[in-house]
Amino acid sequence: MKLNKIVSSLVIVVVAVSCATNPFTGKKTMAFVGNDQLFPTAFAQYNEVLAENKVVTGTSDAEMITRVGQRIAVAAERYLTANGFEGYLEDYAWEYKLIESDQVNAWCMPGGKIAFYTGILPIADNETGVAAIMGHEVAHALANHGQQRMSAAYIQQGVSVVGNVALSNDDQALGIFNQSFGVVSNVAGMLPFSRSHETEADKIGLYLMAIAGYNPDEAAELWVRMKAHSGESSTPEFLSTHPSNDSRIENLTALAPKAKEEAQKFGVTSFRPIN
Ligand SMILES: [Zn+2]
Repeated sequence: MKLNKIVSSLVIVVVAVSCATNPFTGKKTMAFVGNDQLFPTAFAQYNEVLAENKVVTGTSDAEMITRVGQRIAVAAERYLTANGFEGYLEDYAWEYKLIESDQVNAWCMPGGKIAFYTGILPIADNETGVAAIMGHEVAHALANHGQQRMSAAYIQQGVSVVGNVALSNDDQALGIFNQSFGVVSNVAGMLPFSRSHETEADKIGLYLMAIAGYNPDEAAELWVRMKAHSGESSTPEFLSTHPSNDSRIENLTALAPKAKEEAQKFGVTSFRPIN
């Protein structure tokens, strides 16, 4: 029994080191569940979330989410192609949905499945603020941060999902999947991103929003609003996994000119007015 567990852990570790390359840092990252297994699970979980919630359609807010999402997706494609990662998004099936809910939350699952909750819109405040959140969440997905969270959780929780075991047939594995990708509505169950993942997502997100034509100066302003909101009585999901602090705001302020320079490489020299 004990030996079995040890053997399973070893198998996990071996699979873990076979991992993926992070297109933004060039570093090998731990992700022992490959896209071929991850994406179908993500797509199924996404559809489940949509079926269980009220999806807003036909409103100007819903249209804005789609519009921003499409622009961020195009920016990601352009950025990755320009940096030698052509075809990286081949298996992505982008979708951008607005969910009617008081939850202050937004996430992007592997494969480009994005959800915004209406509860986060007052903090986003405007379309550029939405672009900042979207850029950040898409950045986590592109850099496989969720996969790394999930891999770590597997090892920590001793789940031995190896080989071709389908995620969707394993309740515990599916639970970890939902915790890792922010799909659960229970704050206590959510796994926070590490500080280095947050810094990385902030930077990539800033580039993406700028390439998409949104003024990156707004990102720091957004996190100022997040910070003010997190001071309120109960901390919402998004803020519990995305603590907003002065160093984050300073970092975004310092990086905004770099993001504008990056956008310039793609012919973007002016930004939509923030409104
Ligand atoms: Zn984040």
